[in-house]
Amino acid sequence: MPEYDYDLFVIGAGSGGTRAARVAAAHGAKVAVAEEYRVGGTCVIRGCVPKKLLVYGAHFAEDLKDAGRFGWNVPAQCDFDWKTLRDNVFEEVDRINKAYTQTLETAGAEIVHARAEVTGPNSVRLSTGETKTAKTILIAVGAHPAIPACPGHEHGITSNEAFHLDAIPKRILIAGAGYIANEFAGIFHQFGAHVTLINRTKDILRGYDLSIRDRLLQISLMKGLDFKFDAGFEGIEKTDDGCFTVSLAGHDPVTVDLVMFATGRIPNTKGLGLDSAGVTLDDAGAIVVDADNRSSCDSIYAIGDVTNRVQLTPIAIREGQAFAENLYGAGNVRVDYENIPSAVFSHPPLAGVGMTEAQARQKLGSVKVYSSDFRPMKNVLANRDERALYKMVCDGETDRVVGIHMIGPDVPEIIQAAAVAVKAGLTKKQFDETVALHPTMAEELVLLK
Ligand code: NDP
Repeated sequence: MPEYDYDLFVIGAGSGGTRAARVAAAHGAKVAVAEEYRVGGTCVIRGCVPKKLLVYGAHFAEDLKDAGRFGWNVPAQCDFDWKTLRDNVFEEVDRINKAYTQTLETAGAEIVHARAEVTGPNSVRLSTGETKTAKTILIAVGAHPAIPACPGHEHGITSNEAFHLDAIPKRILIAGAGYIANEFAGIFHQFGAHVTLINRTKDILRGYDLSIRDRLLQISLMKGLDFKFDAGFEGIEKTDDGCFTVSLAGHDPVTVDLVMFATGRIPNTKGLGLDSAGVTLDDAGAIVVDADNRSSCDSIYAIGDVTNRVQLTPIAIREGQAFAENLYGAGNVRVDYENIPSAVFSHPPLAGVGMTEAQARQKLGSVKVYSSDFRPMKNVLANRDERALYKMVCDGETDRVVGIHMIGPDVPEIIQAAAVAVKAGLTKKQFDETVALHPTMAEELVLLK
């Protein structure tokens, strides 16, 4: 009789959990993965994937306006049917959900459609009432949206619900100024809503290069989005006509048809029974792990957003892969957290890799910065007064490119390739030696003066 029911019990079939379960099973481990909602997790079901599809859908608003300048006879008033887009997005989400499920099944992992809670270092209790044992438990349960504890907070939605709306509101207030706030601000604005974005501080998108986020702010203001900074969230009151009045410290109240919270995400550790196994959490409720994803309990590991290291899907996937390779494969795999490229799919999008100018100045002292501030040729012909900004940060001593930061059309696509060069430690001279590919926007990267 084996000592445990499984070699590995994974809780959470999101991007990280699915990768870990699949790779462990492929290495011959007996694996079960519990998922209380839908296989695919935040990224596939209510995050990156459906959001990106909405971003594509939203961009048509500008493309249709610009089309006339390119000779297309487009009616001045084009109709947008939100429910068509919403339902088509759901269909695509269903397709990916099935593909993920199939991947796990093909690899030989058993999918348990239930909530699982830890009851000890090697045991979990399922919402079906069963108890299962495993030599190793992997927690990959992700995070959920934080909702400020203000009166009337129950009237607000989060990005989870945004995908399911019956209609696009005429006026929306979005609380927060990070990734989700700026991405949904762009989406709702393009669909015709009046967007007010409020933040508790003076900043949007803290962590990104100042010139790039300032450019997004300027473009967003130019497009007609409203921003209110240093705005403490005091409460939401539902009015007789079904609208919502939001009280803000330091600002006049704002009345809107929908309020959305995008104020960060909290690790899903509450009620998971982790104290039964002595798993240490940090102040934010995240599982504390070492460089090999092991918690303070030897048999329990954690990956992805529940560890609150870098809340990005590709990182959760890498952590899942590293975990599975180390325990069931050749081993000796660690995730390298240096130079992670990231993007905000705002309108226009922005993206970055490596150190911002401020970080480089603080860390390196001697820094050279090159930038290109230009109007993409498509915007020129379209009479669209929207400029792109590319910025390269170099080590003043060695000429090494330590950061690239961009805002403009398609920059997430461009930064993915540029990140290879930054990761490889290439110098500005090596960028300059690369022949420009003309005419592209990306050629600016090898022409920076
Ligand atoms: P972010 O951390 O990006 O932004 C949170 C925003 O909410 C900030 O503006 C912050 O203000 C504000 N805030 C934080 N706490 C409070 C509070 N208690 N009260 C009022 N305001 C508060 O979080 P998001 O929710 O936008 O996204 C969550 C995570 O999901 C991101 O960190 C990101 O890693 C990931 N994500 C990635 C995407 C991508 O890769 N494109 C897309 C969407 C999400 P301030 O900064 O001023 O303190």
